[in-house]
Amino acid sequence: RSNAEKFEFQAEVSRLMDILINSLYSNKDIFLRELISNASDALDKIRFLSLTDKEVLGEGESAKLDIQIKLDKDKKILSIRDKGIGMTKEDLIKNLGTIAKSGTSAFVEKVKTGGDLNLIGQFGVGFYSVYLVADYVEVISKHNDDKQYVWESKADGAFAVSEDTWNEPLGRGTEIRLHLRDEAGEYLEESKLKELVKKYSEFINFPIYIWASKEVETEVPVDEDESSDDATDKEESEDEDAEKDEDAEAEEKEKTKKVKETVYEWELLNDVKAIWLRSPKEVTEEEYTKFYHTLAKDFGEDKPLAWSHFSAEGDVEFKALLFVPPKAPHDLYESYYNSNKSNLKLFVRRVFISDEFDELLPKYLSFLKGLVDSDTLPLNVSREMLQQHSSLKTIKKKLIRKALDMIRKIAEEDPDESNDKDEKEVEKSDDDNEKKGKYTKFWNEFGKSIKLGIIEDATNRNRLAKLLRFETSKSDGKLTSLDQYISRMKSGQKDIFYITGTSKEQLEKSPFLERLTKKNYEVIFFTDPVDEYLMQYLMDYEDKKFQNVSKEGLKLGKDSKDKELKESFKDLTKWWKGALAKENVDDVKISNRLADSPCVVVTSKYGWSSNMERIMQSQTL
Ligand code: ADP
Ligand code: MG
Repeated sequence: RSNAEKFEFQAEVSRLMDILINSLYSNKDIFLRELISNASDALDKIRFLSLTDKEVLGEGESAKLDIQIKLDKDKKILSIRDKGIGMTKEDLIKNLGTIAKSGTSAFVEKVKTGGDLNLIGQFGVGFYSVYLVADYVEVISKHNDDKQYVWESKADGAFAVSEDTWNEPLGRGTEIRLHLRDEAGEYLEESKLKELVKKYSEFINFPIYIWASKEVETEVPVDEDESSDDATDKEESEDEDAEKDEDAEAEEKEKTKKVKETVYEWELLNDVKAIWLRSPKEVTEEEYTKFYHTLAKDFGEDKPLAWSHFSAEGDVEFKALLFVPPKAPHDLYESYYNSNKSNLKLFVRRVFISDEFDELLPKYLSFLKGLVDSDTLPLNVSREMLQQHSSLKTIKKKLIRKALDMIRKIAEEDPDESNDKDEKEVEKSDDDNEKKGKYTKFWNEFGKSIKLGIIEDATNRNRLAKLLRFETSKSDGKLTSLDQYISRMKSGQKDIFYITGTSKEQLEKSPFLERLTKKNYEVIFFTDPVDEYLMQYLMDYEDKKFQNVSKEGLKLGKDSKDKELKESFKDLTKWWKGALAKENVDDVKISNRLADSPCVVVTSKYGWSSNMERIMQSQTL
């Protein structure tokens, strides 16, 4: 085309496309839900703008916010059209090729090491999945602020963008035309597409239509010298032969006959009633799982670990649905400190407002997926105004409470976790297997978030501490909780003992542990660098203080000989203290914390533990 401008794909994008186009991946179906998901996002955006400016929707067809799927069997084209926000020329160039998102290379790496292509949407590169099934793709788009443009590429490292002077005007929105490869012929079957929409896009919030064919029978006047050269016509007349005798009279009078005709019409494929407006009793587990997939763009094999569906009444009314994903996203902690993106979607009276509303959940809970639909927040104000709204504080508070409840319940329902097996017969049920190890799974994926929560959220510190898990000198490789630790404390033991270090193996050899182990005390092992920070915030739990066994202040049971020993070694300790004064040693004391080692260096109560020194050093170096 004469007016086409050519561009090269950014290098990472090009690599990604190469992988996709050459992929032997069998589940190519995923491209459709990625396109529908993009269409839905674009529709959300224009609907949001229309809240403050009705004009943006335009009139007639463009004002109907829907998604349309059309097939052209002869030309082997599958097209998906939306009446969303559309893309300007600049958007087309940037969004579809020249600017790589952070997920691009992460996804390429993932796929190269055998990762599942199914997760493409989570990495923010879902669009390119079209090249699993097409070798040539056109994106026709019209944004309110620009003319209509066509983006096109054969995935050969380059794409072209031209002003559209030949297609029918879209009004507003985007049409993606996939020129399907020969082996992707199944995507020209209506039944296949209907099945896929049902499977993956059932919970999209906008109507999805397919241009569907339908056989209808119509009565037409009989043509006097009709020749039946058409196969269907022949069948028809044979069928009618039998009826002819009976209907002979009527037939003669009316001189009509029935013919089958193929007509096309838009057929609605989804039910757009929002799942969160339904009563939790009526929603099945499968529906929640499917909804989670659509919402989180997480189409992995696993079910979410838990969900909570509730509504709040009173001054601030809202409905919410929260999910604990089965796996942490690839960049959860990478982006923890520089992004404030919560994964909750905010709706106001069913209208999607934003998914970048960090006022809804604290950072440490940003691993949760879900949505909030508020009846209290105003609809027709800017995002900035909404962010200031007083009811957000109440919503946030309730969401945190519910989220922590939901996590606590994972542990309570996990048969591996129940710590009172002796008191209560643990009932064995069919789904025990499914629940087995669920909390361990949760802990392995999101444990760090709970720790960050203890550091950041003073109000909920105790609730969060209940969710902590760790290994101890007695836990035999298993995870245990503070409640379990306390239930095993020796009579007379006042403090909760812990020790920090780089690994369990290292800690097990620690001289600080000798005496405690000999005396049968249990000591918590903290081996994650974040634990050092954690323990600066977690001072006590259930009226018990935490005592680092490598620090001053360790009190074991009183020994009657203590005083005597102190007296008899007074001269030695005094001399020693003097001798070491230059070496940053504050004091030399007789101690009952050792069993076999003759002496040990202890950190003062308020000083950094040696592990903390190590962490700080590694950070400054
Ligand atoms: P993601 O949807 O995660 O952002 P995609 O690769 O699916 O990643 O899409 C890339 C970008 O292209 C989108 O963020 C959006 O800006 C743009 N885009 C894709 N499809 C459409 C569409 N139908 N309408 C408007 N913009 C779109
Ligand atoms: Mg997408």
